[in-house]
Amino acid sequence: LNNYVATNEPIFDYKKNSPEAVKLHATLKEFLSNKKENCDALFDVPIVIGDSEFRTQNAQYQVVPFDHKTKLARFYHADKNLINDAIKNSLSVRAEWENSSFEYRAGIFLKAADKISNEKRAEILAATMLGQGKTVFQAEIDAACELADFLRFNVQFLSEHLKYKPLDVADHTKNNMELRGLEGFVAAVAPFNFTAIGGNLSTAPALMGNVVVWKPSDTAVLSSYLVYKILRECGLPAGVINFVPSLGPDFGETITQSENLAAINFTGSVPTFRWLWKKVGENLETYKTFPRLSGECGGKNFHLIHESADIESAAVATVRSAFEYSGQKCSACSRLYVPESKWPQMKEKMSALIKELQIDTPLKFETFTSAVIDERSFDKIANYIEYGRDSAKLVFGGFYNKTNGYYVYPTMFETKDPKDKLMREEIFGPVLTVYKYKDNEYDQIINLVDTTTPYALTGSIFAKDENILKMTKTRLRQACGNLYINDKSTGAVVNQQPFGGARLSGTNDKPGGPGYLLKWASPLSVKEFL
Ligand code: GLU
Repeated sequence: LNNYVATNEPIFDYKKNSPEAVKLHATLKEFLSNKKENCDALFDVPIVIGDSEFRTQNAQYQVVPFDHKTKLARFYHADKNLINDAIKNSLSVRAEWENSSFEYRAGIFLKAADKISNEKRAEILAATMLGQGKTVFQAEIDAACELADFLRFNVQFLSEHLKYKPLDVADHTKNNMELRGLEGFVAAVAPFNFTAIGGNLSTAPALMGNVVVWKPSDTAVLSSYLVYKILRECGLPAGVINFVPSLGPDFGETITQSENLAAINFTGSVPTFRWLWKKVGENLETYKTFPRLSGECGGKNFHLIHESADIESAAVATVRSAFEYSGQKCSACSRLYVPESKWPQMKEKMSALIKELQIDTPLKFETFTSAVIDERSFDKIANYIEYGRDSAKLVFGGFYNKTNGYYVYPTMFETKDPKDKLMREEIFGPVLTVYKYKDNEYDQIINLVDTTTPYALTGSIFAKDENILKMTKTRLRQACGNLYINDKSTGAVVNQQPFGGARLSGTNDKPGGPGYLLKWASPLSVKEFL
């Protein structure tokens, strides 16, 4: 394993009647008729601490977003006592896990990656499609490919880190640096929108020898549980990762009050990350160490079109970035800047594309995007749409309907105010706002792109003019963590575009790249006199 080289998991296309499409259809059908005994949902998802399953009085339901009368999973919120039990249990296995060999730990995660890419692929896709409302393609690039990629590339990255050898210069001395896990536990707090992110937030620290208490998202609980079960089936010892669905504030308060908190690995909103950070600050005297905080917190990502751009391909890229998975990616484009002279062509192309796209159940594999995750999200997006109807001009979309599923149709507004809240606030839904600028004002527009929002996650520049590209890139250096040139702002691939944002988008630790793993290590330097 010392020279392990990973490759990206190939993406299947699920063409009609292909073996993988047939299998996935069958699995989806099985899932939808799974009806568990003694359970009023299709699946029952326990809390797992060590080897024990727990079901509390506090039952919760994960519903199918595009058919919300269907209860996909019943699960349970751990109370503070159980969360504390999970921490204690993890700590009880920490030393043994941390002292285990790299080969042993890596072997477990590589086996899990193979299972995800083979026999469990259809199941994990089905759970992601039904639970998180992803289309087959969106589920495939997330729950199969990205998840397997994280597991495999993290092993490669760690093997590369392990090759580092400090110099031996002085006579009779031998120097070494060992990568230890952190002393304490790591809390992983995961979002709903990527099954792969939950898997990575928990497994990357675990690979480094840490124990992890994982709070999956309530709205991604079934797919997260399947990932957890796969890890255990592949030999992950009980307690190394404990699976603890719980209410955010209960989890946050409990972990931040533990003297053994070593790190928080978080993906979610700015307010929640700030809240956790403040709690850590309040409790700083409690801890045995300085907890490390890693956060990925959203964005308000731009597509900046220059007059030299290929408008047809910029339009395709923008539609994909803004509306795939209904804009529920941290990286989704939600503010668009187009030169006046190109706006008619851009608008026409985008409107034509939208007309062709199917907004429907993901059970039909040709669906482009489906319902948004839940009612809270639906209501929030609907409010923005109503706001936009008054403050801006509707270009297309503008409808939403939650009778059967939480459907919000791809919506585009044109604003005259480049600082309007539609241009500043993260909506996390299929709402795109365009500001059209005078062709000779490109220079000012670059400043505007840079200063309009507090976020800096992703952004794209579209231009053919090389000098313009070079100049824009330099000036927008701090405006995002992932910059795309003539491509959409979504779809970062592990070890191709390590992912993360700066400013309020997060701590930019770049999961999917080698540096990320060092966040979860406490290196020990050893000098030996011979
Ligand atoms: N890595 C994903 C992408 O590049 C986005 C992750 C997220 O939404 O947090 O599209």
